[in-house]
Amino acid sequence: MKEDIWADTQPWGLEDAPRSPLLDAKVMMVDDEPLMTDLIQAYLEDDGYANFVVTNDPRKAIDLLRQEEPSVLLLDLMMPHISGFELLELIRGDRKLRYTPVIVLTAATSPEAKLRALQLGVTDFLSKPVDESELVLRLRNTLAFHQYHRRLVDYDSVTGLPNQRPFDRCVQELIDRRELAGGMVALFSITVPQCRQLRDSAGQHAADALARMVARRLERFASEELKQPTLIGGAERNNCLARLGTVHFGMTLQGLADADTVEQVAKRVLALIAEPVMVAEHELEPSAWIGIALSPADGSTSEDLRKSAALAVAHAQQQTHPTFLFASAELNARSLERLALGSALRGAAQRGELRLHYQPKLDVASNRIVGAEALVRWQHPELGLVPPLRFIGLAEELGLINGIGRWVMQTACRDAAQWARDGLGELKIAINVAKPQFQLGSLRDELQATMTATGLQPRQLVVELTESMLMDDVDNGRALMHEMKALGVTLSIDDFGTGYSSLSYLKSFPLDELKIDRSFVTDLPDSASDVAIVRAIVDLGHSLGMSVIAEGIETPEQLACMQSLQCDNYQGFLFSKPVPVDQFVALLQQQR
Ligand code: C2E
Ligand code: MG
Ligand code: MG
Repeated sequence: MKEDIWADTQPWGLEDAPRSPLLDAKVMMVDDEPLMTDLIQAYLEDDGYANFVVTNDPRKAIDLLRQEEPSVLLLDLMMPHISGFELLELIRGDRKLRYTPVIVLTAATSPEAKLRALQLGVTDFLSKPVDESELVLRLRNTLAFHQYHRRLVDYDSVTGLPNQRPFDRCVQELIDRRELAGGMVALFSITVPQCRQLRDSAGQHAADALARMVARRLERFASEELKQPTLIGGAERNNCLARLGTVHFGMTLQGLADADTVEQVAKRVLALIAEPVMVAEHELEPSAWIGIALSPADGSTSEDLRKSAALAVAHAQQQTHPTFLFASAELNARSLERLALGSALRGAAQRGELRLHYQPKLDVASNRIVGAEALVRWQHPELGLVPPLRFIGLAEELGLINGIGRWVMQTACRDAAQWARDGLGELKIAINVAKPQFQLGSLRDELQATMTATGLQPRQLVVELTESMLMDDVDNGRALMHEMKALGVTLSIDDFGTGYSSLSYLKSFPLDELKIDRSFVTDLPDSASDVAIVRAIVDLGHSLGMSVIAEGIETPEQLACMQSLQCDNYQGFLFSKPVPVDQFVALLQQQR
C-alpha cells in the first residue's frame, strides 16, 4: 500500500509548521491538454507536492489508476475519445478504485453537469482557467477530508487502534515480504473476555477503559519489547496491531526462526495483560487467551491466518486459565507436552524425584580418577529417567532452576565430603551452574554456606560455567568469578569452543580449567582440522595457565590423541558413563 494513512494530519497555515504529510500524496491528473497538466503540476510543486502521475490520453486513465492507486484524481470533464463522465462511471464501478477522491476540472459547468458529477461521487470542482490558490486549497481540503474519512473507517474509535481492514493489508504485506526475507510470520489472535463482561457489570465506560488499557499494553509491548515499529505511526511496517472486535485484538510477529520464540512471546503477552489494573475503581486482573497461526505453515493470506488463529483462540478458551494454542496440532502437542512436563517439574525436588549421577574425570597420563562431574537426572513417575537436556531449559524458563541447582550443589558437596571422610581420597567434584543461578548474585554465599554445612574443602569444588554466561555481561561475570575464586573453588569453562568468547576476555577471567566441547572430540583422530583445533585449545589453555580437559572421549584412539596433544584430563564413555553414587564409589574402591 503506497498511501500513508497512518501519519497524523498536521496543522498548517503556521509560518514554520512542519511539512504536512498531505504533501506526500500522489496526485494524478487526466487532461487531454498537456499545457493544462504542466501548469497544474507547476502550481502544486510550488506548494510542496512532489508525487505526480499524469496522462493526456484518457483511454489510458483506468489502467494507470489501478496501477498507481493515487491519493487523489484531478479529472478533466471534456476530453476526446472518452469523457470525464464515462471515466467517473468506470471508477465508481471498480472495487479497487471506488473510493478514490476526484476533483473535476472544467471550463464551463452547467448546473445539470455539476449535479450529475456529484451523483457520481465527485468531491469538488475547479473551474478553468485554474487559479493557483484555489487549486491548492481545494486539493488540501479533499485530501484532509479523505484522510479523516479513512480514519473513521479504518480505526477503532475506542482504542485508536486500526481495525480489521488495515490489519489485513498490513499482515498481507508482511506475508508477501516474508517470501523475500524468509523466516515466519506469526499472527496472534488475542481475546480478553472481560472487555465484554465488564460492560454488563460496570458499564460501557469501564469496558472501553479496559480495552484502551489492553491496547496501550500491546502497543508498548510491540514497540519496546519486540523493538519493532508498529502499524501506528511507523512508516516502516514491521509489525501489525489492531482491534478486531469487542474482545479481540490482533498482533503479528515476523522474521521468526522457530516456534519456540513464538511461544516465549505468547507467554510474555499473557503475563503483560494479566498485570493488575484499576478500572472504574475496581482492581482488575485481566485474563487473555491467545490463538497463534503461522505463515507459511497455516496459510499465505491474511484472512486464512486470521481465521486459523481465531479458531485456535476459541479452543484455547476452553481452558479456564489464560493460555495460548497454536493453530497447528503438531505444535500444540509439543507445547502441551512441555506444559505437562513443566507442571510435573514443580515440586520434583521436594518429592525426591531428582537423581545425581557422577561421571569420573581422569588424568590422561596416569588414567586415574581425579574427580567427577555431577549430572542431574529426573526420575519421572511415568516417563522414567529424564535426561537434563529435556528439563534444564524448561526449569530455567519456569524459574525452577535455582531450586534444582541448589539441590545439586548440596547433594554433590555432601557426597564428595563423605568420600573424603571414607578415605576414598580428596576428589574434585564439578557442578554445572545455569545462567539464572549465576545472575542471581547469591551464588557465592550459597557455595560458602553449602561447603560449611557439608564440610567440603573449597579446593575440592569445581564450578562449571559456560561461555555465553560469561559473555552476556562481562564485567558483572568477572566480578562474580573473582568472588568465587576468593572462596578457593576452581572455575572451569564448559563446552569451550561452542560460544563466542573473545580471547582478550578469556585472558581477563580468573579461570582454572578449559573444557573442550565434545563436538571437537567426536571426529578425532581422523579429522585433521579437529586435531588442529584441539591442539590450539590445549596450547591456548596452557599458555594462559589453565588445565585442559576433554569431554566425550569414547574410543582408545581419541584418548591416545589426547595423550599426544598433552591434554591434562578427560571424561567420557570410554571409561564410564555418568553413574549413580554407589556405582561411582565402587569405581573409586576398585582404583584403590
Ligand atoms: P555437560 O555439562 O557438557 O555434560 C556433559 C554431557 O556429556 C553429559 O550429558 C554427559 O552424560 C555427556 N557425556 C559424557 N561423556 C560422554 C561421551 O563419551 N559420549 C557422549 N555422547 N556423551 C557424553 P548429560 O548428563 O545428558 O548432561 C547434559 C547437559 O545438561 C550437561 O552438559 C549440562 O549442560 C546440563 N546439566 C547436567 N546436569 C546439570 C545440573 O545439575 N545443572 C545444570 N545447570 N545443568 C546440568
Ligand atoms: Mg558440564
Ligand atoms: Mg560440556
